[in-house]
Amino acid sequence: MEKAYRPDTICVQAGWKPKKGEPRVLPIYQSTTFKYDTTDEMGRLFALEEEGYFYTRLQNPTNDAVAEKIAALEGGVAAMLTASGQAANFYTIANLCQAGDHIVCSAKVYGGTFNLYAATIKKLGIDCTFVDPDDSEARIDQAFRDNTKAVVGETIANPALTVLDIEKFAKLAHKHGVPLIVDNTFATPVNCRPFEFGADIVTHSTTKYMDGHAMAVGGCIVDSGNFDWKAYADKFPGLTTPDETYHGVVYTKQFGKKAFITKATAQLMRDLGSIQSPMNAFLLNVGLETLPLRVEKHCSNARKVGEFLKSHPKVEFVNCAMIEGDQYYELAQKYMPNGTCGVLSFGLKGRKEDAVRFMDALKLCAIVTHVADARTCVLHPASHTHRQMNDEQLREAGVTPGMIRLSVGIEHPQDIIEDLEQALLQV
Ligand code: PLP
Repeated sequence: MEKAYRPDTICVQAGWKPKKGEPRVLPIYQSTTFKYDTTDEMGRLFALEEEGYFYTRLQNPTNDAVAEKIAALEGGVAAMLTASGQAANFYTIANLCQAGDHIVCSAKVYGGTFNLYAATIKKLGIDCTFVDPDDSEARIDQAFRDNTKAVVGETIANPALTVLDIEKFAKLAHKHGVPLIVDNTFATPVNCRPFEFGADIVTHSTTKYMDGHAMAVGGCIVDSGNFDWKAYADKFPGLTTPDETYHGVVYTKQFGKKAFITKATAQLMRDLGSIQSPMNAFLLNVGLETLPLRVEKHCSNARKVGEFLKSHPKVEFVNCAMIEGDQYYELAQKYMPNGTCGVLSFGLKGRKEDAVRFMDALKLCAIVTHVADARTCVLHPASHTHRQMNDEQLREAGVTPGMIRLSVGIEHPQDIIEDLEQALLQV
């Protein structure tokens, strides 16, 4: 068995393993297709009897090397890259559910995920019940139905910055014989590995810290291989009964612990096609190499900026689970003792207009629809990412009208603080 390396080493070394004379750096296999010598050779690939590449929509060596690295980082058995985080979160549900099914999801999730589960999958006949993640086990338990097929939450919610009690959610999911899916985008596996706390599947918007430089939109799904689909075979027929669109293959039988990712690749990528481009996978890989360094710096900067904001007379509240006194400090200590992420949110005393004036006065911190890259940026969730939500939905998502989301970058912390300070003087 190969030695199990630590995350810093995995980030640099896992995935691409060049053989004699091959490039040291992961090559970009910028090719839609792959050549074979005989009809039969390619036929065996189509029959899933042999592993190999034939068309990039299904698999590509650059993407596979990066997926393998992320799987190793999360401690999973297999992973698949997708064109975006949205695609990852959609595919995960589509791989488990069909019309007539139901999922349970934390109400504190990214606005795009909320729309996807509240509206879009509903049109496909899949229902979603949103729960307050801080509710008691007994209350959340009431959301489950006979047709529930999955439970979803975010390690650190965007933008509410609530910390998910992963063990509580895993216990509930498993009591009902369904997997727990955790979107681990903000924490990254450097700070939290949800499989260690009972999660079964992890998703990522790799667009964020993993890429880290705001260069490439992307997503990833990682399977722990721990969920026993066969034990709940009647709930998951897509995994446990023959797939007539693939020569009657039974994914659990033929692929064992890799059943979930193989089905997602063979069936969903084939039919829906949201593959990540090899060029983007290459950029993502470059980002992953420095992920632990950047995450550490993002967190230490966010702590300093958060403390500064907390002590400022014009600031009403700061949400940052790394700061003692935060509502989620204890949960963060349990799940992410080394730090949470560089994103924090805060509210100014006064009206919504003051928040807008403050943001417009910033010079170094840019207003962009992004988080989690090297450059510090700000956003006003109520008028940007969460604009489509009504007041009640905003409240449920943990977004107040004057709340500002600040993604602390890796610049010198004092320069970030000085920019915030001068902008605060303008309100
Ligand atoms: N999940 C989380 C936690 C996010 O923050 C985002 C985007 O901000 C997404 C998923 C969607 O990812 P993408 O923008 O890559 O589609």
